[in-house]
Amino acid sequence: MKLDQLAGNAALKRQLSAQADGRGLSHAYLISGPAGAGKATLAKLLAAAMVCTGQGEKPCGLCTACRKVRSGIHPDVIHVDIPEGKREILVEQVRQMRSDAWIRPNEGARKVYIIHSAQTMNPSAQNAILKLLEEGPAYAAFLLLSDNPGALLPTIRSRCEGAALVPAEGTSSPEDSLARTAALELLDLLAKRDELALYAWAVPLEKWNRGELSQLFQIAVELLRQALAPTPAAPAQVLAAAALPKKKLLEAVSALEKLRSDAEFNVGAGHLAGAMTARLGGLLDHPS
Ligand SMILES: [Zn+2]
Repeated sequence: MKLDQLAGNAALKRQLSAQADGRGLSHAYLISGPAGAGKATLAKLLAAAMVCTGQGEKPCGLCTACRKVRSGIHPDVIHVDIPEGKREILVEQVRQMRSDAWIRPNEGARKVYIIHSAQTMNPSAQNAILKLLEEGPAYAAFLLLSDNPGALLPTIRSRCEGAALVPAEGTSSPEDSLARTAALELLDLLAKRDELALYAWAVPLEKWNRGELSQLFQIAVELLRQALAPTPAAPAQVLAAAALPKKKLLEAVSALEKLRSDAEFNVGAGHLAGAMTARLGGLLDHPS
């Protein structure tokens, strides 16, 4: 799935992409996170992925359906929000949504409801939506957005896949924080010496482009160098990696530097990801 419009949140994006490639997207998501974390952006991207008519990775961002979702005018992507002058989503709105859901989609294969400020639904509105989550038509999907998911009934929460967003760091570009998050995860896996987890973690990297991988390798090298002489202020993953033998850390640094220079020479992402797991996995293999 193409989620690069959403800043940060690398792990969540990888998880959703793996899900879209595997068993497919769920019919209900609870997208949570503080204001500015990108809840509406993620909701639009998921909705677009569900109705996109383009080829290849979804949402393509270019087809008519994707463009309509982006401008909020796709007839099968319905936004539900607190009505003007009110303080909550009303039970009538949910009932309206329930009857609408049984009318088949206009243009696409699915109908997607984006429910903003879902936590403002009172208990009767929540019970009404619960019925819809349980018994709604198979083509309908529900994206509940909330900055306070705890205010929703546990029965609703348990019927939705959770997608918890954290605001991306303000100073770095989205790509930067994506690569940095992945590099920290990599250090964590190295520190745990979990070769199998390393292999599983690296699979989605085959979908990255060479520039992104190169950035990941570079940040990982910087972090590993920090692990050789850590300060107390270093990230927890760096401190964990500092417990590895120095020799291993240096070997990992040189393996990643080699990969980074390979990335400059037009080597494919699949090959780079494979080579990385082979070299780093090999390091974890032999205790020293
Ligand atoms: Zn599209």
